[in-house]
Amino acid sequence: MLGGYKGRILRVNLTDLKVSVEPLKEDHVKKFLGGTGIAAKILYDELDPHVDPLSPWNKLVFMTGPLTGTLAPGCGRFVIASKSPLTGIWGESGSAGYWGPELKFAGYDGIILDGRAENPTYLWLNNKNVELKDAKHLWGKDTIETENKLKSELKEPRSRIVTIGPAGERLAKIACIVTDGGGVAGRCGLGAVMGSKNLKAIAVRGTERVGVADETTFRDLVKEISSIIENNPRTKSLRSYGSAGSMEGNEAVGDVPIKNWTINSWPDGAKKLSGQYMAKTILKRPVTCFACPIACKREIEIKSGPYAGIKGKGPEYETCASFGTLLLIDDIEVVAKANDLCTRYGIDTISCGSAIAFAYECYEKGLITNEDTEGINLSWGDHEPFLKMIEMIGKREGIGFILGDGVKLASEKIGKDANEFAIHVKGLEMPMHDPRAYKSLALGYATSNRGACHLQAASHWVERGTLFPELGLEEKPNRFTSEGKAKMVIDMQNFMAVIDSLIICKFALTCGYTLNHLLRLIEAAIGYKITKDEFIRTGERIFNIKRMFNNRLGISKKDDSLPERINKPLSEGIKHSSPDLDLMLDEYYKLRGWDEEGKPKPEKLKELGL
Ligand code: SF4
Repeated sequence: MLGGYKGRILRVNLTDLKVSVEPLKEDHVKKFLGGTGIAAKILYDELDPHVDPLSPWNKLVFMTGPLTGTLAPGCGRFVIASKSPLTGIWGESGSAGYWGPELKFAGYDGIILDGRAENPTYLWLNNKNVELKDAKHLWGKDTIETENKLKSELKEPRSRIVTIGPAGERLAKIACIVTDGGGVAGRCGLGAVMGSKNLKAIAVRGTERVGVADETTFRDLVKEISSIIENNPRTKSLRSYGSAGSMEGNEAVGDVPIKNWTINSWPDGAKKLSGQYMAKTILKRPVTCFACPIACKREIEIKSGPYAGIKGKGPEYETCASFGTLLLIDDIEVVAKANDLCTRYGIDTISCGSAIAFAYECYEKGLITNEDTEGINLSWGDHEPFLKMIEMIGKREGIGFILGDGVKLASEKIGKDANEFAIHVKGLEMPMHDPRAYKSLALGYATSNRGACHLQAASHWVERGTLFPELGLEEKPNRFTSEGKAKMVIDMQNFMAVIDSLIICKFALTCGYTLNHLLRLIEAAIGYKITKDEFIRTGERIFNIKRMFNNRLGISKKDDSLPERINKPLSEGIKHSSPDLDLMLDEYYKLRGWDEEGKPKPEKLKELGL
């Protein structure tokens, strides 16, 4: 097998409780590299496109990449892919931490799961030894309890666990998968897919190292990149303040959504929700992931007051915004408590904050009343109703039942004008960056294969000055114009598709990695050279196969859209114009080689070998 890979995929059928090992196909490696690339190829080939995402026939794929488990900085991530129950289309999510490397150490590049176990079950991989074990005693337990209990009953404190919480067990479509006491694969409701299979957790312990093709060159390169990252000012900022260190800067340019996307200016609130404020109050220490010198993760502890006793992984930027600014809550301890609840129940914080903000606005406008909320007054900025709503979503009680299925389905159930307040693209709640502040984000959200996502292109980084000269992105463009943004979005989407397949943490990527580093790492790890053009072409192939997955489900131009609210400039706060999505989409389809309905043309597919 090529260096960097273990060459083995574990296949588990939970209905028959059968496991088998198959070779990782070299053709998949050459064309799709790993991570979401290979997961997309597997699901495109194997899945009946019209399968019910919560039926036994849906598949859930856990994948690593060729750099996972090596000492290349920021390569501790893994990805999970499936047909999403939240959106009904391509679903992917990833997490940093330690589980991905441990899977490689146990001897596997990935796991393909299908079927449904008759009873709650967990999967235990102890190197090559694979067991499906009874998880009845874990069902109903929160993710932290589950992780602790499994480590202790397996007598393997060094094992690594991915698990769902009660929200995933109860099939909430915004349920996530949790690892390492608070790392999450949050988006697309993949926790519900795991719950639908009666699979509570996957515990892994491995002791095999990951070999690479050219050990000496690889080691020297890791040293070179690590030193660059160590000396990068962004590393210092991320280590000191975490991702929420950007909160005040983002707010100042109108990037942070406030009060369910109706305002974009709240400096006092942003200050109290920032990483800098966290560092002065609840931060215990920065923590890191496997082989990452950056340590952008937060470990927090609240020592006094109503939330005393909350400790563990702290909130990141997205959570500080979705539980803070989006709801007009400016208390970092409340956000930390809410984050802890979501970790324990296994709920995606972006979707959860969005669903609660949606409910608040429905309540304010009279579309739901105290009868629907079981007497709870939903008032912007109030702490107790907000925390109660999270509990109701986690337990799927009362209005929490419909909110737990995300804003799109909730708005359809509530009816009237509720869809006006449901801020999503293709069913996925929008992340906490406003496309009115960075016009390329609008196109990125509209065309991202998993629904609204800022990281599938991350082109707003370029609009704020993080340049990628090797991709031809050498100058900071005007963030307020829609013209000429399509090429930049395509270049970044193709690039990021490879990053999610290698797999490298995107925070680490911005701390000093260059394309040249990546090409040299690939050659030293895998053992063959790929050119810059092949790198980008691989990304294009991966992006297109996910689009083909969605096209088969009827996704077309009509779905590459934005919520109506985003198509209008704000009347309060910083008055940015709305993005001209039609203009950007026309240009985008042409440059992508797609037809007018957003389907890759046959000649494009031929060119990509699809
Ligand atoms: S940059 Fe942060 S999230 Fe990424 S691998 Fe390092 S510590 Fe983990």
